[in-house]
Amino acid sequence: MGHEDAVGRHLTATVSAPLHPPSTARVLLVDDDGVARLLTASALAERGFMVIEAASGEAALALFASERPDIVVLDALMPEMDGFTTCERLRRMRGGEHVPVLMLTGLDDDRSIARAYEAGATDFFVKSNNHWTLLAERLRYLLRAARLRAELAASQAKLAKAQRIARLGSWQWDPQAHWVMLSDECCAIAGLPPHPHGVDEQFVWSRVLEEDRTRLAALFREALLTRGPLAVECRLLRSDGQLRTVHVEAELDFDDHGRVRAVEGVLQDITERRQAEDQIRHLANFDSLTGLPNRRFFREQLAASLEQARANGSLVAVLFIDIDRFKQANDTLGHDVGDAVLREIAQRLHQTVRGRDLVARGGPVEAGAARSVARLGGDEFIVLLSDLASPLDVEPVVVRLLEAIRRPLLINGTELFVTASIGVALAPAHGEDVDTLVRKADIAMYAVKDAGRDGWQIFDDAMNAATAQRWRLETALHRALERGELVLHYQPKVDALTGAIIGAEALMRWQRDGELVPPAQFIAVAEESGQIVPITEWAIDTVCRQVLTWREAGVSAVPVAINISSRHLQRGHLIEPVRRALAATGLPARLLELELTETVLMQNIEAALPLLQALKRLGVSIAIDDFGTGYSSLAYLKRLPIDALKIDRSFVRELETSDDDAAIVAAIIALARSLKLQVVAEGVETRGQMARLAAQGCTQMQGWLFAPAVDGDTFLDLLRARARGSDWRLLAAAREEAA
Ligand code: C2E
Ligand code: MG
Ligand code: MG
Repeated sequence: MGHEDAVGRHLTATVSAPLHPPSTARVLLVDDDGVARLLTASALAERGFMVIEAASGEAALALFASERPDIVVLDALMPEMDGFTTCERLRRMRGGEHVPVLMLTGLDDDRSIARAYEAGATDFFVKSNNHWTLLAERLRYLLRAARLRAELAASQAKLAKAQRIARLGSWQWDPQAHWVMLSDECCAIAGLPPHPHGVDEQFVWSRVLEEDRTRLAALFREALLTRGPLAVECRLLRSDGQLRTVHVEAELDFDDHGRVRAVEGVLQDITERRQAEDQIRHLANFDSLTGLPNRRFFREQLAASLEQARANGSLVAVLFIDIDRFKQANDTLGHDVGDAVLREIAQRLHQTVRGRDLVARGGPVEAGAARSVARLGGDEFIVLLSDLASPLDVEPVVVRLLEAIRRPLLINGTELFVTASIGVALAPAHGEDVDTLVRKADIAMYAVKDAGRDGWQIFDDAMNAATAQRWRLETALHRALERGELVLHYQPKVDALTGAIIGAEALMRWQRDGELVPPAQFIAVAEESGQIVPITEWAIDTVCRQVLTWREAGVSAVPVAINISSRHLQRGHLIEPVRRALAATGLPARLLELELTETVLMQNIEAALPLLQALKRLGVSIAIDDFGTGYSSLAYLKRLPIDALKIDRSFVRELETSDDDAAIVAAIIALARSLKLQVVAEGVETRGQMARLAAQGCTQMQGWLFAPAVDGDTFLDLLRARARGSDWRLLAAAREEAA
């Protein structure tokens, strides 16, 4: 070796072996000695290798870059660049870091072997001219090892990537050596630089948040003892101050003698997931305005307290708190102020319930009692006192709460004064389940409202549940108008002889939680609370617009009647809203009719008279509703400027069965005729009733025989069907079926 000229050496770098299938290993054989190279190359080719030859170090590096051989066989001693230098440079080339390099050496002295390894050779082989099979086997072995290494590296890279994506790190703890190996991702999660050689176990423990350490250590000890797997969550405090929540899972690894060799585990960063879960839990259980627990959470708390009370014989108190006249304050001062009031009250309730000032005057009587406050919604709060020893323990708490609420509030620089009514129910005395207790505390609260507000009462069976129900309805009704939950349906008034639709009556419905509530269930409440005034004004307006819509749709519109409540006559000013609605919509007044009940008119005829006269001047017609029930005197009736009487449906109902009722109906019809008033029969359900009424001369009728009350769009369809000459009653019946 080393005797050929430089040019020849460079030029003889050729591919000398026949082409092998691609799976064949490609060997870069580097030797300056042409003869030795030829011999080696042919021996290797014979044994299935594809040999690329290079006659110098430079040529080898160039060929390595272009040919990418699987393995390099490198002569150690070459002129100019020897094998050691070539190997070193190869290692620095791209793709050269891991390629197996077998150094061929003629000398088996320790020094050159050591040098070969220092230069980065994978192995060495002593040159000889008859060990070709051994050389070939050595190459195969190195190739196999290299392939395994590459596969391992690839799968580790894949794993590392997967772990990075999953924010999952792996670790291995050697309990004997007190040493922990951490994957790079593990280190990244813990905010550490990579520690490829591992760290002392104490170092790892020091990263665990102190509060979690004892628990975690106990779990590890237990896992070692029971030899079971471990799954736990804990928090890591990183040196950058960040707190990460991690999920740790581990399994034990045993040696042949069954001793724990290592604990192998993974660690996953679940901080974001935990935060999202916490947020969801918070949203589901806490009220966003005040930050207090909400109804849901409160119910869970109460259920748990009741459970506990059953077990230990203690008492539970539920305090239902409602701010007095909050609705009015909210409406007049604005919702921002309303919200601020609720937040401040929430704060005070919370402080009072938690605070030291709760310790009763005579000493800490409710020591040990668990208390919490929640917001049920709107201006309703609830306080839960559990683990009470005696019902007497409730009073000091309630008194404190009332005092806390009464303290003046300063909102936007304005002083406000707020009071509340508190109803109390006790378990087990008043009930042992959540719903019963809340309902009874609610009833007690309304008893306080009835008694003049700003106070408290404990539930008592004599308290009227109906009162509470009414109050509740009132609250809901208050919002119904704002939220557009009220609708008007229209029942046709017909001429029984021709089947023509000659008018309609607007009947109110409340769409409450997907249910259509009839007026019988809410008009009385609206009347008592005074809400009937805005509700009626809304109805007048709505009817005017509705009739216009029908007219614009091209049908000849019919007059529509609106029911006017008795309370309205006493409280409100009816003329103005009617005039305003007519002016705003431009609706001809003759298309509007008002129904007033007989009783009211007769009770207060002196006040009613000028009102009716003014209405008549506006041009609207007036009917007396439910006629026959109010003992009208003919003398009075004559004085009233009215257009029609509506025979109450109770008489119509019994028309065929009761002679009395038949007589009354006949009398009303006769009366109407003598006063030159229209007469309309209400609640006609059967053909028999219709025939009787018609025979007596009452042909204007209203009732389910013809059509029920339908929504505005359907009523338009009825008017259209009638205009086409088809039987609209069938249409109405079909719609009714469908609904
Ligand atoms: P009303 O003014 O006497 O209205 C007639 C009632 O009889 C309506 O009940 C109507 O649906 C029902 N009805 C119609 N045809 C028949 C039938 O063939 N058989 C039977 N059994 N009933 C029939 P609704 O809608 O439940 O109204 C009840 C009462 O509520 C009304 O009696 C009226 O006094 C009051 N009301 C309804 N809407 C309003 C409103 O907008 N304002 C006021 N102040 N009161 C209203
Ligand atoms: Mg009516
Ligand atoms: Mg009626």
